[in-house]
Amino acid sequence: MPENAAITVEPPKQYEYKSDVKPTWCPGCGDFGVLNSVYAALRAKGYHPKDVVSVSGIGCSSRLPFFVTSYGFHGLHGRAMPIATGLKAANPNLTVLAFGGDGDAFAIGGDHFMHACRRNVDITYVVMDNATYGLTKGQASPTSRAGYVTKTTPLGSAEQPINPLALALVCGASYVAQGFSARPKDLTDLIIKGIEHRGFSFIEAFSPCPTFNKVDTFTYYKDAIVDVPADHDPADLGAALRLATSTDIIPTGLIYQRPTPVFGAAHRQQLATGVQSPQEVLGRLFKRFS
Ligand code: SF4
Repeated sequence: MPENAAITVEPPKQYEYKSDVKPTWCPGCGDFGVLNSVYAALRAKGYHPKDVVSVSGIGCSSRLPFFVTSYGFHGLHGRAMPIATGLKAANPNLTVLAFGGDGDAFAIGGDHFMHACRRNVDITYVVMDNATYGLTKGQASPTSRAGYVTKTTPLGSAEQPINPLALALVCGASYVAQGFSARPKDLTDLIIKGIEHRGFSFIEAFSPCPTFNKVDTFTYYKDAIVDVPADHDPADLGAALRLATSTDIIPTGLIYQRPTPVFGAAHRQQLATGVQSPQEVLGRLFKRFS
């Protein structure tokens, strides 16, 4: 090479995460904002799409994997967590993202959600909460407020809503955050931090449904949400629970984060130090039932 030759440094490869499938959400749906934050988070991380899997259950927001160029799995209603867990256990090198709505996550998939939290599976779960069942035309969901009027609750829902943040915290989630689809930069940051966190990252994203929910609207959230107080210590579980259950404010930001042993690590350690190899265990089982 000549002495004065310029050295060119190749810029990092930028991958395209937007697929050719156009989102089929209603105009103005909050899920568009969440999708844009997902694109931005993936661009920031620079992963090759083949190293990422997007998993979902059923519902309007669960269509999200169609719109991302990663591998995708549009699963059964409420079953995003077991699918994501299996993928991560089978191939720990994958970045596993899961998406769904409040009904998918906390009603049909409520049991799976609890166990994903306590197992601390290294996946990032973004729940697009619109406090209604949008895909089935606007029934009350587990996060609908009491009194929510729909065609199936014409006198108003007689049930109290679930508290997703508190549920995640008491079930052992090691990363809990809350964002809003109309604040894409903040939401992108929370998703990036969630991906980088080693363990189960739960991000509750307010994502209004302008078609069916006329109560929990963009205007409502814009007026109601506040940033997590500057003096909040996200490593303090008690403080996180107080914030999550506050009746005075709706906080957005990082609620809780704590280093915790990740699902799979303990199993691998047991196998490494164990008396029996997986082959021995399987061999004994086959022999028993043959
Ligand atoms: Fe979005 Fe609601 Fe339309 Fe579903 S019904 S796409 S949640 S606006």
